[in-house]
Amino acid sequence: MSLADITARVDAAISAAGRSPGCVTLIAVSKTQPNERVEDVLRDGHRVFGENRVQEAAGKWPEFRETYENVDLHLIGPLQSNKVRQTFDLFQTIHSVDRPKLANTIARIADEVGHCPDLFLQVNTGEEDQKAGVLPADADEFIAECRKLDLPVKGLMCIPPVDEEPSLHFALLAKIAARNDLLGLSMGMSSDFESAIAQGATHIRVGSAIFGERDYT
Ligand SMILES: *Cc1c(COP(=O)(O)O)cnc(C)c1O
Repeated sequence: MSLADITARVDAAISAAGRSPGCVTLIAVSKTQPNERVEDVLRDGHRVFGENRVQEAAGKWPEFRETYENVDLHLIGPLQSNKVRQTFDLFQTIHSVDRPKLANTIARIADEVGHCPDLFLQVNTGEEDQKAGVLPADADEFIAECRKLDLPVKGLMCIPPVDEEPSLHFALLAKIAARNDLLGLSMGMSSDFESAIAQGATHIRVGSAIFGERDYT
């Protein structure tokens, strides 16, 4: 599908949910995609992109930014503490703050450099062993800890288990956010972004539906 097709589907889902036009940010997830495809989307005027590896992002976005202004880059994948400093130069938003130690490192470096990307805290709504994020039962405490550190927490993020109905996970994330007065909800991917928008997503992360299937070989 083209970017315009996806944008039309996003707008239709927003309107079907009775939400305000423009209330959802479409993050085009460009990980592993060939540069020509990414550049097509840049040329179409899109500026919000997501990457899940710091190294990969560092290899392509500084150069794209020389040609295209106002690129807004989101880190959506796991972050190691020793890469935090590098993310501050590359990314405007981090969606994957998933443990107190990482939150502490981010706070320390933010103090040092005098700025901090916007943050989403990742919640492991499916309580999966292999997935990052705090457990739903620990989310309130983690949010409070991050606030105590003065971190710019904008919302919560989740990646539902592949074999479960995603809307249940979106509803759970929305509930945790609401009771903590958090407005941002980073949820919904290529296969389920319409359902995420119905449940209140403010940021959807869409890769293959825009760029085509990823080639990991
Ligand atoms: C890769 C990825 C996406 C995009 O997935 P698609 O199914 O291609 O839309 C979204 N969120 C995260 C965290 C990802 O790693």
